[in-house]
Amino acid sequence: MPVLCSSCAEKRAVMKRPKTGHSLCKECFFWAFEEEVHQTILAAKLFKHGERVGIAASGGKDSTVLAHVMKLLNERYNYGLELMLLSVDEGITGYRDDSLETVKRNQEQYELPLKIVSYEELYGWTMDAIVKQVGLKNNCTFCGVFRRQALDRGAIMLKVDKICTGHNADDVAETVLMNILRGDIARLRRCTAISTDSEGDGVVPRCKPLKYAYEKEIVLYAYFKRLDYFSTECIYSPNAYRGYARTFLKDLESVRPSSIMDVMHSGENLSVREGLKMPVQGTCDRCGYISSQPLCKSCVLLEGLNRGLPKLGIGKHHRLLDKILSEQPLTEKEERKLKAVDF
Ligand code: SF4
Ligand code: ZN
Repeated sequence: MPVLCSSCAEKRAVMKRPKTGHSLCKECFFWAFEEEVHQTILAAKLFKHGERVGIAASGGKDSTVLAHVMKLLNERYNYGLELMLLSVDEGITGYRDDSLETVKRNQEQYELPLKIVSYEELYGWTMDAIVKQVGLKNNCTFCGVFRRQALDRGAIMLKVDKICTGHNADDVAETVLMNILRGDIARLRRCTAISTDSEGDGVVPRCKPLKYAYEKEIVLYAYFKRLDYFSTECIYSPNAYRGYARTFLKDLESVRPSSIMDVMHSGENLSVREGLKMPVQGTCDRCGYISSQPLCKSCVLLEGLNRGLPKLGIGKHHRLLDKILSEQPLTEKEERKLKAVDF
């Protein structure tokens, strides 16, 4: 006998909700998923009526679901938001060029304006060229640092008040684990926040409306709604460390589905001991972006790339960086240290 939906008790259930274990029909699942995002937005007061909001759109499942749900809730509950899509083109042939085609289709499907900012135009480097120089070990460090700043720059061009990103509960839990494993207290504090205020000029506030949505449910939502999204992995995706954290979390989830929320709550509730020295935010001497060092990470990485010394921004090479900036010659040994690439 077919199982009936436990919510409407009329239609046939098509799934067991990963988050609650309830058997639901398609319509009741859509409603539950959308209402939870709506409640998240209300409870955390993520938006104000009349705001311009940029949706960080990569063409992947999370940001496509985010764009779809934001548009729907904005209309259903009259949020009064002016929504637009903001994409970053990292310059990865065979990956980002294809996923950006999906974003362009989404733009038409959702009738939202779209702005694309590219690494090439902002930094003079594509990820294809960066990988040629740095290899496949630290490429995601360059990509992550550049993306953060690229989104801010794009948001400023679009004059948005806020950026919302498609980070889901699994992403947050994974990041909590990674920051604990690395002992990165400053990031641990920030990564669970559902929204961040502007930390200075050039930094646009961000928020995560899907923070409490499970990845499995996002996939089901996109699948049942037949959303048009791009599901291929990045061709330069070695990010082994995150991969281990992800596998570990998935293993935990298969034994106990609430593990994702549990890890996230642990991250939220860990407090930092009084008197612990935290980095002090200032601004980069070169580009004006926020930084706790005289040069921001992006400028150091770029300096390294432009000088053919890609390791300059990987690890701590403050002394060598000072030497380079004050135009003192490096010894051969020092050059070798900053040149080495691990393919
Ligand atoms: Fe960039 Fe690494 Fe993500 Fe690819 S996997 S888009 S290189 S951060
Ligand atoms: Zn800078």
